[in-house]
Amino acid sequence: MKKTTCILLCIWMVLSLTSCKNTAEETASFEAMDTVMSLKVYGGDGICGTLEARAHELDELLSSADTDSEIYRLNKNGTARLTGDALTLINRSLSLSAETDGSFDMTVYPAVCAWGFISGNYQIPDGKTLDALAQNIDYRQVSVNGDSVSLPENAAIDLGAVAKGYLADECADILGGSGASCAVLNLGGTILLYGAAFKVGVADPENPAGYFGYLSCGEGVVATSGGYERYFEQDGVRYIHILDPKTAKPVDNGTLSVTIFSDDGVLSDALSTALFVMGIDKATAYYQNHDGFDFILLTDDGKLYVTEEIYDRFSLADGCSYQLKKVKK
Ligand code: ADP
Ligand code: MG
Repeated sequence: MKKTTCILLCIWMVLSLTSCKNTAEETASFEAMDTVMSLKVYGGDGICGTLEARAHELDELLSSADTDSEIYRLNKNGTARLTGDALTLINRSLSLSAETDGSFDMTVYPAVCAWGFISGNYQIPDGKTLDALAQNIDYRQVSVNGDSVSLPENAAIDLGAVAKGYLADECADILGGSGASCAVLNLGGTILLYGAAFKVGVADPENPAGYFGYLSCGEGVVATSGGYERYFEQDGVRYIHILDPKTAKPVDNGTLSVTIFSDDGVLSDALSTALFVMGIDKATAYYQNHDGFDFILLTDDGKLYVTEEIYDRFSLADGCSYQLKKVKK
């Protein structure tokens, strides 16, 4: 189920690239970070190979499941000395966890595993197990000393909610040092828009092959988290892959999808997960107290909340009946 939903999600569409079209187009498509990535670069002179190599390199370094990765080694031994990328991303993740009051928390990994989201052997842990798992989720227990990171017993980390955002930022740097005039890199639900203005379709969770609307935006990173991306169903209940760190259970707060737009890939990716966990009321309060991003949040009663900065640049798709709500700063 995993791969097909990722592919559907990846059909995010960029409608206009008119200002790029006078330079040579280069494309690439490959699998990395457990999803399908597709790149389109104009005037890059062979840069796609470099971007793809960076995606594989970061995947091998940051994956919790890959037995050769630095993060796997840290999780297995409880302590490890880390190199630049992993260390940078852990430090950044810790501050984002603090800023979001733990709604984004990389120590959810044992719970993600217990629900079967890594192995694909989905199961509902019993109440006692969930209590124990929830007790052990706490980013404040991750200690960083220079390049040495250690975790308490029974703890393990997962950078899956931010790795694609970090890759987006790295790709923006690579593109900046190249001759590329513009690019759209779809990194599996996290999209880097580079060098031009774009119109991006936002996937409709009720119909992930289609879009509920379109956002006109400049350069930046658009990241979406949705319960429809990865889930299982048992006895008519849907269990999604985004967990509430306070309960170790899949989020069930009426949120269907969150899209973040910002010029910072790690921020976009982390906040798409964190605001999903928060739900609309806390997400609104968070937006009112923090700068540097905008959001589009869909709830299961058909309301589509769009922050005021991008409200006029967002249009509903023809026939879409969601009710638009402007979120004021
Ligand atoms: P995806 O990576 O599937 O596009 P997200 O960016 O929302 O979606 O990341 C979700 C992934 O992050 C999950 O598959 C899980 O591994 C991990 N995760 C789940 N809940 C949380 C959370 N509250 N904080 C941090 N990571 C989480
Ligand atoms: Mg995310």
